Amino acid sequence: MTDCLFCKIAIGEIPATVVRSDDRLMAFRDLNPQAPTHVLVIPREHYADAAEVAAADPALIGAMITAARMIAAEEVGEDSGYRLVFNTGSDAGQTIFHAHLHLLAGARLAAGMV
Ligand code: AMP
Ligand code: ZN
Repeated sequence: MTDCLFCKIAIGEIPATVVRSDDRLMAFRDLNPQAPTHVLVIPREHYADAAEVAAADPALIGAMITAARMIAAEEVGEDSGYRLVFNTGSDAGQTIFHAHLHLLAGARLAAGMV
């Protein structure tokens, strides 16, 4: 999609601090981090949200979660916890409609869900 910010990051048209990348995925640091490690994992291909990824390509959503686990292990260690969030829809706070998985780690995170 030509007007999608994360599509532009995926093709290198807009810079990002990339921490992991392969032919299907990219992971980069959130511009406005909410935890010491706050990374967004995106599919290179455009999908509006996580449910669209899961419906179209279940292996890809699995690969996104595996990538997040590997980044958490690198940044905070195998034994530390981390939080994965897919905001889905504007009511849930989704502001960028290219699927992205938030990885939050590196601090004791607030216990609640909201
Ligand atoms: P969401 O609210 O779930 O749609 O998350 C969008 C996230 O993208 C927010 O946490 C923003 O801080 C982050 N963000 C917006 N623009 C950029 C950018 N150019 N590079 C990295 N992260 C960004
Ligand atoms: Zn996109």
